[in-house]
Amino acid sequence: MSRPLIARIDLAALAHNLGVAKAAAPHSRVLAAIKANGYGHGLTRVARALRAADGFAVLSVEEAAQLRGEGYTHPIVLLEGFFHPDELPEIAHLRLRPVIHREDQVATLARTHLEHRIDVLLKIDTGMHRLGLRPARVAEVLATLRATPQVGGITLMTHFACADDPAIGVAAQLAVFREAAGDGKLPITLANSAALLRYPETHGDWVRPGIMLYGVSPFANQTGADLGLLPVMTLESRLIAVQRIRKGEAVGYGATFVAERDMSIGTVACGYADGYPRHAGTGTPILVEGQLTRTLGRVSMDMLSVDLGPVPNAHVGSPVTLWGANLPAEHVAASAGTIAYELLTALAPRVRVEET
Ligand SMILES: *Cc1c(COP(=O)(O)O)cnc(C)c1O
Repeated sequence: MSRPLIARIDLAALAHNLGVAKAAAPHSRVLAAIKANGYGHGLTRVARALRAADGFAVLSVEEAAQLRGEGYTHPIVLLEGFFHPDELPEIAHLRLRPVIHREDQVATLARTHLEHRIDVLLKIDTGMHRLGLRPARVAEVLATLRATPQVGGITLMTHFACADDPAIGVAAQLAVFREAAGDGKLPITLANSAALLRYPETHGDWVRPGIMLYGVSPFANQTGADLGLLPVMTLESRLIAVQRIRKGEAVGYGATFVAERDMSIGTVACGYADGYPRHAGTGTPILVEGQLTRTLGRVSMDMLSVDLGPVPNAHVGSPVTLWGANLPAEHVAASAGTIAYELLTALAPRVRVEET
């Protein structure tokens, strides 16, 4: 028997969640965000389950080359564009679509020999101030791009900072985008998962869902299940030890948890080196034998401790669910002061993955 920690990836759930995205944005094409190793689920595994998407969004030429190598002919967008002019010939050869987000990249394109024209996305900074052109620069840069022989189709793009926050929303950024986009003749792409689900006015020609495809809600007060999504990753392990401790005895590094009464505790084969968040303190939800209980004390590198009070029949070998089916990753993330995006993408390479 090997170490019992397994990340189970439900490919049918991925396909289902893509269907939810398509149904929510029926007039848009779907550019599935599969960067960060498919949000921790495995790049090519996710692409296979999402092959009904209209395109894929990744960060690097290497990821895109892997997809092309597996035979995918979908449009592939490079969300951070090209990092160095050296990448452009390969980008053209693989027919990738880089995001152009700085003016100097236009000049670089114009002086690079390419085997054929490439389609690009021009990113406009409408308020997030991360990537993109100032709105006032768009008209001139667009004119230059259109006159650049290396450039084929142009799609206008922006990204929302607060689509998940109803108090702020997308209205201000959307207004800036519309003003900068001018005559409205070019295709546009604006919406991440939150905007796709909450603001139909952002759908445009392409939506760019990421997190919702993995069954996780982009909103703080709702889980994926609330939105009709199915969790894709279930992180499972087993108890590898069970102990009775006495009132006053402590658990784990730093002795941060001290028993208030005699109690049964279990040790789970999963720790922060597996991607479980170390900042998840005592009380983080966890399932043992399918029963909801809580973690105790600090998470160690390879193990964590659980309260077996609610699970009197637990024993060495009892199944444990860290997150996924029946335990939203959103809830575990909230206990650790983070978001489920971080939990999923931090899954460590040492964790065994099984597809279901
Ligand atoms: C990652 C990413 C997305 C997907 O965002 P989610 O919140 O996961 O839906 C969309 N657009 C861009 C530019 C991204 O980097």
